[in-house]
Amino acid sequence: MTFPSRTVPARIVGISLASLAVPLVTALAAPDWLAEEEGLLIWLWAFAPAFLFAYYRGLRGVALALAAGMATLSLAHVELILLESTPPNWNLLFAAVSAYLAACVGAGIVAEMLHRERAKAERLALVDQLTGLPNRRHAELTLDAQFAAAGRGQKLAVVLFDLDLFKQINDRHGHKAGDAVLRIFGQILRRNTRRMDLSARFGGEEFITVLSDCDPGGAELFAQRVQRELREARFGWGSVTVSAGIAFYEEGMGSYEVLVAAADRALYAAKHAGRDRIEVYRPPKVAAVAQGARPASERGEPRRSASIVVIDDDLDVLRAVTRLLQRAGYRVEGTDDPQRVIALYRDGQTRPDLLITDVMMPRMNGLTLVDSVLRLDPGVRVVYLSGYLQEEARWAGLPGAASAFVGKPVEAERLIAAVREMLERKPEDDSSASAGRNAQVPEPK
Ligand code: GH3
Ligand code: MG
Ligand code: MG
Repeated sequence: MTFPSRTVPARIVGISLASLAVPLVTALAAPDWLAEEEGLLIWLWAFAPAFLFAYYRGLRGVALALAAGMATLSLAHVELILLESTPPNWNLLFAAVSAYLAACVGAGIVAEMLHRERAKAERLALVDQLTGLPNRRHAELTLDAQFAAAGRGQKLAVVLFDLDLFKQINDRHGHKAGDAVLRIFGQILRRNTRRMDLSARFGGEEFITVLSDCDPGGAELFAQRVQRELREARFGWGSVTVSAGIAFYEEGMGSYEVLVAAADRALYAAKHAGRDRIEVYRPPKVAAVAQGARPASERGEPRRSASIVVIDDDLDVLRAVTRLLQRAGYRVEGTDDPQRVIALYRDGQTRPDLLITDVMMPRMNGLTLVDSVLRLDPGVRVVYLSGYLQEEARWAGLPGAASAFVGKPVEAERLIAAVREMLERKPEDDSSASAGRNAQVPEPK
């Protein structure tokens, strides 16, 4: 973890420059005094900035300030030579400067350690500072636990809320007005959430509610109540609306990430239908018939050179999966940009034979991405990657003409088995192109 490059305030830069000036000015004004033992204290002013910069920039700040301090000492020395004054006691000066150098580096190291601890504490904290609601990490812990309960028969619903056109509020009325909306929405959610459920800030202007033991009607009623209360809230400059997506646990979803992605897909539909709406997840339908380029596999090209597109926002996973597939002989293109994937299916002369996608991604979740790709290529075969796998993933709702599911951390054999299985599906298997022809890849022997 690198130390953040915080802006050094002007007054700190000013104090630092003044400290550096002290030895230079004293060398001119009282050169002989500088050579005496008390004068040693004046030389050491050149190191004061290192302590200040340690706080704002860590060790890199210390290095920069020390370089400036050393340059200052050299300049002061040149001044003394030019003025032909008595030289200082070099041994004493050397000892004092060494001690100060060590202290400066020590301060830099402590600053870096404190920063690391603070970042860790922030990560471990479970409360969002702005709204006072539980944060994303808290929501994920709850989701994991509730998903396990759902696997044992308890009902589970997830509602994702996203404030409408929130960027405009920031742009037109200022960031503070935006923050006030987030706070009010947090209060509305808190008021309407039962103790057994959890509402959390999931990110920016996105919130999540985990409803346990809740039937479909109850989840919709909850979302409608929240939506109405926000619509009725008056801010000095006007009012705000919110869109919501709802999804319910279904057997075989495998991981809570799939449940959340399903809700996100419904939210995406609510936004597209005009905002200020609530949509419930429904298995996708294929809209258009594929036209134009045909997958390489249908044109009888050898399987080993099949083309695969991989998308994951985690660049380490992306690199690892890409490398693994390349080593296995596939032609692979890796990206973290959903629009790039859509462009590959839209524009490419040859459509990729297989899409490998992460489920949870910030810009567009894997399910929504496959929905978009399905419109361009109804025969798209997909391997989904997801963490927090709790149960055998064999959910029929995963979009894709054929799909498999591989848990993270990705095991090489498992991934290759899933890829082979998807590529070896005969094209006619895909002709119905309906959702949910998915496969569970067996554990490698
Ligand atoms: P849509 O209806 O499609 O959701 O549009 P939108 O403008 O709400 O969505 P978009 O994702 O374009 O913009 C979200 C904005 O939320 C951008 C970001 O600056 C703002 N935002 C995120 N976190 C905060 C925050 O803590 N405070 C404030 N004031 N704004 C935030
Ligand atoms: Mg958003
Ligand atoms: Mg929004």
